Amino acid sequence: MSEQQDPASPGQAGATAIAAADSSAAASAATDAAILSTGALQNAIIQSANFSSIATDSRGVIQVFNIGAQRMLGYSAADVVNRMTPADLSDPGELLERAEFLSAELGIAIAAGFEALVFKASRGIEDIYELTYVRKDGSRFPALVSVTALRDPSGSTIGYLLIGTDNTARKHAEADRVTLERRLRDQQFHTRFLTEASTEALLTTDPLGTISATNVPMENLLQFSRNELVGTAFRSFFADPGQADACLEMAIGGGKVSDWELVAKPQAPNADACSTDAPNADAPSADAPSAAGSAALWSAHPFYGAGGELQGVFAAAHDVSELRRLERRLEEVEGELVHAGESAKAATVAVSDFLSGVANKLRSPLNTILGFAQLIDTDIPPPTLAQAASVEQILRAGWHLLELINEIVARADLESDALVLLEPTSLTEILRECHAAILPRARTNGVGVAFPPAGLPCFVLADRTRLKHVVMSLLSNAIAYNKVNGQVVVAIGLTSVAGKPDRVRLSVGDTGMGLAPAMLARIFHPFNTEGRVGGAANIGGIGLAASHRMVELMGGALHAESTLGAGSVFWFELDAAAEPQTPPSIAPLPTVPQGAHRRKLLYVEDNSSNLELVEQLLARVPDIRLITARDGRHGVLLARSEQPDVILMDIHLPGISGIEALQLLRSDLATARIPVIAVSGDAMPRDIQKGMKAGFFRYLTKPFDVRQFMETVEAGLELAGQKAGLK
Ligand code: MN
Repeated sequence: MSEQQDPASPGQAGATAIAAADSSAAASAATDAAILSTGALQNAIIQSANFSSIATDSRGVIQVFNIGAQRMLGYSAADVVNRMTPADLSDPGELLERAEFLSAELGIAIAAGFEALVFKASRGIEDIYELTYVRKDGSRFPALVSVTALRDPSGSTIGYLLIGTDNTARKHAEADRVTLERRLRDQQFHTRFLTEASTEALLTTDPLGTISATNVPMENLLQFSRNELVGTAFRSFFADPGQADACLEMAIGGGKVSDWELVAKPQAPNADACSTDAPNADAPSADAPSAAGSAALWSAHPFYGAGGELQGVFAAAHDVSELRRLERRLEEVEGELVHAGESAKAATVAVSDFLSGVANKLRSPLNTILGFAQLIDTDIPPPTLAQAASVEQILRAGWHLLELINEIVARADLESDALVLLEPTSLTEILRECHAAILPRARTNGVGVAFPPAGLPCFVLADRTRLKHVVMSLLSNAIAYNKVNGQVVVAIGLTSVAGKPDRVRLSVGDTGMGLAPAMLARIFHPFNTEGRVGGAANIGGIGLAASHRMVELMGGALHAESTLGAGSVFWFELDAAAEPQTPPSIAPLPTVPQGAHRRKLLYVEDNSSNLELVEQLLARVPDIRLITARDGRHGVLLARSEQPDVILMDIHLPGISGIEALQLLRSDLATARIPVIAVSGDAMPRDIQKGMKAGFFRYLTKPFDVRQFMETVEAGLELAGQKAGLK
């Protein structure tokens, strides 16, 4: 007890000073008694177990130390009453700090003891502060202490009441709050760091669509600084603001927004564009000319506060400008290629026409050569053996030259899209021809081929030459890209859709490696270099791209289906056609008795050696008289006046053409019934088709086979005889 009363102790010194301020020790003792005699107060204080209530006398010496105080501080009342001041229960360092703080605040020197605890209260100032109490076992705890001066009726201070609450829980909460705040700051820092470190362009907006944060890649993408971006409406930075709005709206509405393409507006906004928060206002103006803004694919997600309230939209953008630029370039290049292709097609048509012309010019002299050679060969008396051998050589070379001419023209014709001739074509027949052509190769490759039964007639509307090339090409590929012991399956099917012509489907399947989807997608591309185009596989000489084009020209489409490792099926459909009417047969016609009258034959021809050849040929037939004309008009006049039984008509004539001459003959009742046989160097199938359509009885191409020529003339004469008989 004596050491607690030591005058050197801070509590004692403080109490002494206050006692001095009260100026009367005797009065003090009297009021102490008064407090203690106030039973009601004492009871209330003592019964409060949750608050530490410590009452002191005017000097600070503890008089009341309630149950709450005993519980919190670990002292019994006997330990402290009349022995200690509250300063003895407090952290000395804190007391010193508080004394210094109060001294500075109030401009009075205040001692670091009890006085520091109650100084404000002693001046009538309500004082509540935090204090660290020291328990009996030396442990500490924070307390929130309210200090009140107790006064007697005369106003003199008779003591102090310190009511304290354990502040530990609050302190913990406070510490937790600080930790949370620090974590939140860290989190924000990390988020910021992540945002900055991201190479993706990122930004956030508030719920109204005003940009609230952004990163450097976004500045680069939109070509605006952070200051210009933040605070400005998102929509302001895009070529189509409505699309930008729609993107945010969809995100806010909870829709999945990804790969939403927005094109940035190209140039910097006005100077005042950086501080507005009103959407629409201060949008970057669009009048400055500039290149196209960058295109980007946007994804957007809403983000919410802890309470679930919408805080804004988080948006990320992936720049695809370069990709779009390359795509545009690709389109341009493809356009150029298509253009080049069209030019090439036009050139092909020109070449084809040129070659046809050349071929026609070659056929006339060749006709003379072959014709006279045949005349010698079949003359009476027959040529000597040596002569016959020479003639044989001339004929062989001549026919070979004709083959070469035909091949060149046919090849040029095939490449020319403009010259497609659609007619009922027997698919069965084409398949039979192709089957024969590919069998040796299939055997060499060890590939089996299965064709549909040959018996069924099947006609399609097609260009026969081209269709055969397409089928050959598909078969060649199916064999070339097959595996050993693989199989090629050819199938024909008929599809009917009401109101449309029936379609015939031809499919060619193989059991090869198959094609990857990427390769399959480009298989018909004209510039595909990945496979199945060109090379040894194409016996037919055309690639898949050309086949595709040809099928399209014939009103169909070539398709490919493939399973990697299992094989591919190429198929197309063409309109079905009715079997064409067979032309009237020549042979079974009744013959007119020979020599009944001498038959007259008119030959309209401008080429003298061809004229001479025919003259010599017909000289062998005694009952035929040949009359000739050098041009069409003369020929028509001669036909009217001479009424020949049959007319042979060249197509290329001075003045009107052979076809025009035919039309004149047909329109005149006097000549309408005379059979007219075309004799021409125009030997293309389309030329023949055209001629037959114009109304010729037959179409002979130069150079002609002598026997075939004579047979045709006979057929014409027989028809004429029939007509004469019907008259
Ligand atoms: Mn001619």
